[in-house]
Parts: sequence; structure tokens; C-alpha cells
Amino acid sequence: MITLALSKGRIFDDTLPLLHAAGIEVLEDPEKSRKLIIGTSRPDLRVVLVRASDVPTYVQQGGADLGVAGLDVLLEHDSHGLYRPLDLGIARCRLSVATRADFDYASAVRQGSRIRVATKYTQLARQHFAAKGVHVDLIKLYGSMELAPLTGLADAIVDLVSTGSTLKANHLLEVERIMDISARLVVNQAALKLQREPIRKLIDAFEAAVAAPAA
Ligand code: ATP
Ligand code: MG
Repeated sequence: MITLALSKGRIFDDTLPLLHAAGIEVLEDPEKSRKLIIGTSRPDLRVVLVRASDVPTYVQQGGADLGVAGLDVLLEHDSHGLYRPLDLGIARCRLSVATRADFDYASAVRQGSRIRVATKYTQLARQHFAAKGVHVDLIKLYGSMELAPLTGLADAIVDLVSTGSTLKANHLLEVERIMDISARLVVNQAALKLQREPIRKLIDAFEAAVAAPAA
């Protein structure tokens, strides 16, 4: 049995067409069922539904053989024991800095002021600002980062942006793009050794599905 870890929402939704292109159908809709383990049309492949940020842990510890996780999650998490063979090109977005329109980010950076930054991505934010030589006080949040600059909790946020409509709705400006993000296939290294043939085939099928023009 091969176990693939996915998270509900955009990762699951964007992975389905790739599985479909590989001739694999997932037998249940996670939005309708409460099941956390779902079978597929391939008797030797099942899907487990986990929190997006738990995908690397499941795959590292062998709770799943493979998984799909955003580059944001992978870089924020340690990658020990994870083989990362493929950029799936799905769940695309970018990691950016955003502030209120009345906050002068450029001069704060230029003047070397201390900036208060709220984010779920403290590792990535720390690395980004350290590389720029900007002093930051990081405030770890678990959601609704947009609220932080609006309430005076922080000067800036580091968050994922796709269309920009959430920022816009909250009168925030994207002032710096840190990196482009997409979801990656990750594989447990030990599983790859023990079940080399079927896992290799699955990776190849994903690769072919990514390369194929969208149906
Ligand atoms: P949870 O909702 O369980 O706290 P999450 O918010 O990280 O976790 P999702 O919102 O499903 O989970 O996001 C999963 C992944 O989708 C992200 O890690 C990221 O790689 C990708 N993604 C693409 N666009 C966006 C976006 N606009 N906002 C958030 N994530 C996005
Ligand atoms: Mg979410």
C-alpha cells in the first residue's frame, strides 16, 4: 500500500487533475465526507488528509510515503528525510511583504528602523530580513495576518498572496515580493528504497501529468 498525504482545499483540488491524468481517481470528496483516509481507483494507493503544515511531518516520519506541500510549508519546516523530486506547478502564489498604505516601507528599510512583522512564516521572514540587513521584531501568528497592521500589532506582514484581493479588501499594499511559491511532491526516502518500483512509477506519472498541457 502506498499512502499519499494531501491537505483539503487548494492542494487537494489542484492535485486531483494530476492524479486523473495519471489514471487515478480519488473515491470520495473530502468536502462531503468526514473520512480522513480515502481510497483511490488503484487498490494499492490511498490518500490521507492532513493539515497543510503537517504534510512534511507525515512524510518524514513515514505516516505517508508521499505528500504534496507548498514550498512555503517545506521551507518553513526542516526537510530532513524528505526527497523533493518534483515541482507540481499547482497552488501557485507568492510570499510577500505587505503594509498599510500609509506606512513608508521603503524609508523604514533605508533608515534601518526596526520593523514589527507579523507572520506565520517566522523562519522565512527572519531569513529574508536578515539578508537585507533589516532589523525586525517577529510576531508569530497562526492566521488572519492582514489584521495585524490594521490594529497596530505590526507594521508589516509576511504572507502568501495569490490574487491580492484579500490585501485589497483590507487596504494593504504588497510592498515586496519575497519568492514565488508552488506545491511540490515530497517523498519519504526510506519508502522510496523499500517500495522503489511503485513509488518511482507514481513519481513518473506525476511528472508526465505536470508536463502534459492542461486538459
Ligand atoms: P490551514 O488552513 O490548515 O491552517 P493553510 O492555510 O496553510 O493551512 P491552505 O490555505 O489550504 O492551508 O493552503 C495550502 C497551501 O496552498 C499553502 O501552503 C500554499 O502553498 C498554497 N496557496 C496558494 N495560494 C494561496 C493563498 N492565496 N493563500 C494561502 N495559501 C495559498
Ligand atoms: Mg487556510
